[in-house]
Amino acid sequence: MGYADVRRQDVSAAIAEYDELGKDAFLAKYRYAEARQYLLVHGGRRYDSKAIVGVAHRHLTGTALTPDEFSGGRATVGRHLAALGFRVEGMAPPGRVFLQPRGLRDGGAAHFANTVVKGVVLAEHAEALGPDLAALEALYPDGVAKLWGNTAPKYGYHAKAKALAARRVGDHVLFHAEHAFVAEAVILHLFDNEQAAASIWGSDRQGRTFTHMAALGDVRLYDPPLDARPALNAAGLGTVRHFMQAPDAFRLESPARDSTVAKPRLFSAEDMLNRLITLDRDQPAERIRKRQALALLWTIGQRVAHRKRWHSEEDFRSGVGELLRDFDDDPGPEVVADLFWHLQNTDVWTVDLDNTDPLAGFDDECDRLLESVVVRTRAITALRSRHLNRIAEDEDLLARLGLEGYARASSRSKPAGDREAPVSRRQRSGDTAERIRSIAEEVTALYDDTCQFCGTRLLTGVGFHSEAAHIRGLGEPHRGPDHISNALCLCPNCHAQFDRFGIYVDDEGVVRLVHNSEEVGELRRHPDHDIDDAHVRYHRSLCHITPPA
Ligand SMILES: [Zn+2]
Repeated sequence: MGYADVRRQDVSAAIAEYDELGKDAFLAKYRYAEARQYLLVHGGRRYDSKAIVGVAHRHLTGTALTPDEFSGGRATVGRHLAALGFRVEGMAPPGRVFLQPRGLRDGGAAHFANTVVKGVVLAEHAEALGPDLAALEALYPDGVAKLWGNTAPKYGYHAKAKALAARRVGDHVLFHAEHAFVAEAVILHLFDNEQAAASIWGSDRQGRTFTHMAALGDVRLYDPPLDARPALNAAGLGTVRHFMQAPDAFRLESPARDSTVAKPRLFSAEDMLNRLITLDRDQPAERIRKRQALALLWTIGQRVAHRKRWHSEEDFRSGVGELLRDFDDDPGPEVVADLFWHLQNTDVWTVDLDNTDPLAGFDDECDRLLESVVVRTRAITALRSRHLNRIAEDEDLLARLGLEGYARASSRSKPAGDREAPVSRRQRSGDTAERIRSIAEEVTALYDDTCQFCGTRLLTGVGFHSEAAHIRGLGEPHRGPDHISNALCLCPNCHAQFDRFGIYVDDEGVVRLVHNSEEVGELRRHPDHDIDDAHVRYHRSLCHITPPA
């Protein structure tokens, strides 16, 4: 047996002896010279790698190797130590890099904290571990193992299945969560043990568990987490959707060498809206982006109307399939099933594979952003304006999804039975003076039916016509007050544009088009009309305002 037969536990035993004797006594005892390079780094200390490997041989065979029995250095001892998962100074990290989502929900994060950070007491799972127990006890002399498991993907051709099969001892794993790398570790041992996985992490009602297990060493937590996006972008990866092998070009600067790494920049509402506008970059076909937009609207509707975030493929196929039959060209069940997966290309969607059935929905950050009514309104408007503008009946679509309140700034959808009538048409009648005037009557009378934006005073065969517009919509979801400080007198054209996010009032009172900021009018204020600027700002926040080109 030579140095290449030395196992990780033999090296650990040699390190313990080195620590006990001290460097000089250790080297003298085994007659090794001091090493100058390729030092083994372990627990923050440096060790003479050749001497350690030579002495490790004694723990394997009973006889230490003498210095002249083998050569030290990068190609021999360095490479072997790296393959065992040890860090060797002056050598690139050994093995390849695999990227591992830490977990999208409580499950993954809790598993990580319990079985990777804290560790698994092997004795508590001895029976379930069965034949794997001995190997783990050798790797973890203190009896506490750092373990992680992956489920088998439902489909064998999935990239996750290939990545799981490609893992080798000595490979690095980077744990990823919320656009950041949170920890790294080295694979020390690989084994499939369904019984042990079920004993450690439990299993779902269909008996599925995290069967594909890895014993990890040198677990390092990144505090603060390291922004993953530069490395992922440089490698052409959007995010880490499932366990995958990083491309060869993947580079991660060691956080130890750059302790000034800032916390990851928070993913902003603008980032998400831009993704909703772009949708699938690789998909030029408009009709496919339209289907994606319909599916995302369905998902938002499920969240708003039913408080349901995650959807099985079956629920998605039935809900989205029905929607596409009614509002698109009924592309058939296979296309709908593809959507469930391919929506991941939009980078707002995630499929969580660590379940009995894959579950899909908006990813954590998008879901958090969509909690806000303002962001939700803008997201819905972005999808409608960019991808669904040929659906004449899109307000019917929103009503069907339980999103009717988001169709307009004024919250209200068209009244049933009178589809063209504005909600607040001013009724002229002789007895207005005798009864309490509505807000609508009050504001249109104040301006004598003259539009506050463009100055139009529209003459019809039955008198002048203007409309009262609420600035911040009443009722759900905008909850504006029914008060004249929240109302404007507008002509039907300006009302339609203002209500459907086509124009806004800037902070200097200039009326502008949303799509190019062009000035189209100026807000006229009657001295007796106290308009609440907070409502004007709220309306503006609902509009997706793009800066002038
Ligand atoms: Zn007008």
